Amino acid sequence: MAEKAVQSHHVVVIGAGSTGVAVAHDLALRGFAVTVVERGAIASGTTGRNHCLLHSGARYCMSDPVSAQECAQENDVLRSIMPHAMELNGGLFVALTEEHRAYKSRFQEACQTCGIDAPWLTPEQVLALEPHVHPDNLGAFHVPDGVFDPLRFCLSFLATARRNGADVFPFTRVDELIQRGSAVEGVKVSDLHTNRVRRIEADLVVNAAGPWAGEISAMAGLMLPMDPTPGVMVSMRGRYCQRVINRLGMPSDGDIVVPQRETSILGTTSWSVPRADTIPIPEEHVALLLERGRALIPALAESEPQGIFTVARPLIHEMVKDTRQVSRGFECFDHAAEGVQGLVTIVGGKTSTSRAMAETTADLVCSKLGIQAPCRTRETRLESYRAFYYT
Ligand SMILES: Cc1cc2nc3c(=O)[nH]c(=O)nc-3n(C[C@H](O)[C@H](O)[C@H](O)COP(=O)(O)OP(=O)(O)OC[C@H]3O[C@@H](n4cnc5c(N)ncnc54)[C@H](O)[C@@H]3O)c2cc1C
Repeated sequence: MAEKAVQSHHVVVIGAGSTGVAVAHDLALRGFAVTVVERGAIASGTTGRNHCLLHSGARYCMSDPVSAQECAQENDVLRSIMPHAMELNGGLFVALTEEHRAYKSRFQEACQTCGIDAPWLTPEQVLALEPHVHPDNLGAFHVPDGVFDPLRFCLSFLATARRNGADVFPFTRVDELIQRGSAVEGVKVSDLHTNRVRRIEADLVVNAAGPWAGEISAMAGLMLPMDPTPGVMVSMRGRYCQRVINRLGMPSDGDIVVPQRETSILGTTSWSVPRADTIPIPEEHVALLLERGRALIPALAESEPQGIFTVARPLIHEMVKDTRQVSRGFECFDHAAEGVQGLVTIVGGKTSTSRAMAETTADLVCSKLGIQAPCRTRETRLESYRAFYYT
């Protein structure tokens, strides 16, 4: 029997956060027929409300070198395929105390090992670049961090996926997985504008529902031990730095200030919650972020919060030993191993590594459907986010 052409294989992707949109783009570029369904607006989950740091990898170079290397590589790729969705402004890892400066040689070695360019700046050089950083700073590493706009990020992937034939349905919630026996053969969705219910048949379904991935896999009777791990962020009125300002040391609470348009985002904290939908904002987290943010940039004391928000990292239980010693890597599950054909789940990672997550997922989809189509997302420049509205 002749093999089916790649275009005749239909894949439904659940979720239009950074993971789902990157998967949709990769699959559409390889020639698959792709449908994306998202229960809210594009990027309305975790992706739309994170710090928006395009990781250089430096943040994890001492605690999680594998993720750090992945970030460093993906940083290069994203800079070249979607410069229009980024502010390529760099970042500093600042030593404020002797305790922080004691990390200097370890951080330098770790950056070298991970392939991250990180020259050391004297306190005077730091202040010349960033006049609001604490005047008594003891110097800083300069790294290739950046800042992305999460909506533009997702729209660029989706505009390109659409150009390659994908259909995108926001405000379309998956209520059930269509199953024949235990095999998944599509999704039953509600259009939340019209309340119309419809079936979308598929050769394969990719569950990219982020911290809600456990709820999707439970529809097929599967137990995915999600451990939603939120963080609080405080958006301060005014832009007090041009680069991402990190405190030198191991990743910890309240150690980063990210400039986002005319605001400064103070981040973050980390703990576990049972469900990603209802996350309380502990007052002591806000107080800690304000205190530590102002230690890095004293002028923030003149500003006030204009928004306080939280979202949950889409992590699974094995990744969370202690919420600060969490692996920032990702996992791609072929549920055939648990007896359910036709369903793949991708969780974990970061927005900064979504392209690599998509490559792994699309490779698995190809191998499951018997398709040979190489990944081309590394070298394919994405459409502008604007094209989403007229593609
Ligand atoms: C506090 C914090 C700060 C972070 N900061 C950064 C950072 O600075 N840089 C970085 O690179 N990463 C950062 N991350 C990590 C990053 O935000 C996540 O890894 C990434 O956003 C996950 O994307 P996702 O697409 O997997 O999940 P999501 O963005 O949550 O997308 C999943 C989508 O699935 C949809 N969905 C759920 N259920 C259904 C259903 N039944 N039907 C249809 N759709 C459904 C949801 O509405 C949602 O839009 C941060 C994470 C946290 C928690």
